[in-house]
Order: sequence, then structure tokens, then C-alpha cells
Amino acid sequence: RLWPDTARVSQAGRLSIGGCDVEGLCDAYATPLYILDEETFRASCRTYVSSLAARYPGPGGVYYSGKSLFNTTVARWAHEAGLGIDAASAGEVHVALKAGVPGRRLHLHGNAKPREELEFAARNEIGAVVVDNLDELRLVGEVGRTLECDMSVLLRIAPGVGAATHPHIQTGLDAAKFGLSVDHLPRAVEVLRSATRLRLVGLHFHIGSQIFDLAAYAEAVDVLLDARAMLADALGQMPEQLSPGGGLAIPYTSDEPDTDIDAFVKVVAEATLAGCARRSMPLPRLVLEPGRSISGRAAVAAYTVISRKDMGEAAALGGGPAGYVHLDGGMA
Ligand SMILES: *Cc1c(COP(=O)(O)O)cnc(C)c1O
Repeated sequence: RLWPDTARVSQAGRLSIGGCDVEGLCDAYATPLYILDEETFRASCRTYVSSLAARYPGPGGVYYSGKSLFNTTVARWAHEAGLGIDAASAGEVHVALKAGVPGRRLHLHGNAKPREELEFAARNEIGAVVVDNLDELRLVGEVGRTLECDMSVLLRIAPGVGAATHPHIQTGLDAAKFGLSVDHLPRAVEVLRSATRLRLVGLHFHIGSQIFDLAAYAEAVDVLLDARAMLADALGQMPEQLSPGGGLAIPYTSDEPDTDIDAFVKVVAEATLAGCARRSMPLPRLVLEPGRSISGRAAVAAYTVISRKDMGEAAALGGGPAGYVHLDGGMA
């Protein structure tokens, strides 16, 4: 379950991926070598799309989070599977455009987007900018006014929900550096009311990465639906999209638990359905943004062993490692 779908070990003990002998690939291309299994990548894309269609009766979309692994080939695979692209920088926007993904299928993320990046996005008619904070909301409004184009924005909200993951990749707390806290929404309303070229198309959160505890998503969806109701009241228009981000964990070692794309989609879809029913609110366009749960298992890094260090039995008995294997790979 850590390996690509097509990984096989022959009777002679040779590893192949996608029908290619891995040692043969290493000989042909040299190591360190990143090997991507197209079939695994595309299958995970398909699982997201079909789960969302099965679990959620409203409109929906899946955006592949490029920062987990990105190049023009991967962008094309995601696009062909019907996914949009969540770009974390102008560089990723550029790669996606180069791969033939239309600008309207992109969302631009990032908590510190320079003006040139926003102008680049606007000129390429990007689908939406996901706005992190009030300063940025004003700046996006200015860019729209200067370039005389409407800017569609999603507001990234910090839902004040902690998810059980490493503190550095836990991004949904009020005190987190990412997103607007709910207390700041009235000020966002002022900016949106006074700007002529800002169009609020939705709300977004991303509570972090490597999340095994799915209950945190249901909690955060509820916070966002309250924010949606408040914004609809204040602006006279219901923000259409709701994006609960990505972050579904994947096992990195054989002792970590398995995770399930469909279980993740189910939790998010059910929380959205129940929350909208309770508030008598129309269903939003539900937008998921998975990254590693699509790319992680599809990618394998192959190295050559350069040397070994045997630390001896005494070290192992003392709780230290029995030895080290030195590779030709970097620190990535
Ligand atoms: C990183 C990131 C994702 C994807 O996270 P994964 O853990 O790779 O699924 C989605 N949305 C945003 C805003 C991100 O920063």
C-alpha cells in the first residue's frame, strides 16, 4: 500500500514499476532517479472525481494541489482526468499553462503573493485567487481596478480548528499564519463592498497536511457555513464555492495506518449536506484540493548505495542503529 499500483517483484527478486525494470531505468537514466507511475496518479484522480460525484449531489470540483509534485506532464494528467490545478505560485501557474491547462481551471494560492504575481494571474484569466488576508484582499482589488478586469476571489478562513498533525503543517488554527480569522470577516466585508472589481466566489480552508483525523474537517466545514451565512447577509449574495482544502494523510511507512480517499470525501460531503440542510441554505460548489494523496504513492525515488557502515551489534543493543546505508541522493 506504500507502492505504486503497478509495482511488482519478479521471482528473481527484481522490482518493476509500470512494467519497467527499475534497475534498467537506473542504468538508462542514472540515479538519483524519480520514477512516476502514470497509472497510480490517474487512478487516484479518478477516485476523487467519482467519490465526489457519488457522495455529493450538488456541483463539485477537484483541484490537484501542485505543490505536492509538479511538472508539465503531471499537470496534463490531472487536467485530462478532469481536475483543476491549485497553484501555489506564479511559477506553478506558468507550468500549468505551459501544459495546456486553461487559466480558468487554476486557483492561485499563497500567503504572500507579490503584485506582479497577481497581475500575471489576472492577465491569464485565472479561475480564482485564494486570498489569505485583508492586505491581500485590498491589493487584489487594486490589481483588478488597474487592469480593468474582475477578480474572482475565495477567502481563506482560519476555522480555529486544530487537526492532529505536526504543528508546522497544522494550518487551521486562529493563530496560524494562514487565512483570515472569523473575527476579521466584517473588515473583509468593508473591503469587498468598497471595491469595484472584486467578486467573492467562495470560501476556503486548509487545516493542514498529513491529517488522519477526519472529524476535524466536519468541524471546520461547520465554521465555514456560518461564515457563508454571515457573508450572504452582509453582501446580499451567497458565496457559491466552498473549498475544504486537501491534507488527507498517506502512510509513509508500513506501520502507519491506511487512509481512504472515499472516506475523506464522504466526511466532507456529509458535513456540507447536513450543515446546509440545518441552515436552509443552497448547496455550494464543493471544491476539494488533494495533493499528496494523489501524487505520493505514484512516485518512487531510486538511489544507488555508495557505501555501508556497520555499527556492530553493541550499538544496536544499546538502542542505536545497527548501521547506515549511504546513498547518492540529496536531502529532499
Ligand atoms: C498543501 C496544500 C494542499 C494539499 O495538501 P496535501 O497534504 O498535499 O493534500 C491543499 N491546499 C492548500 C492551500 C495547500 O497549501
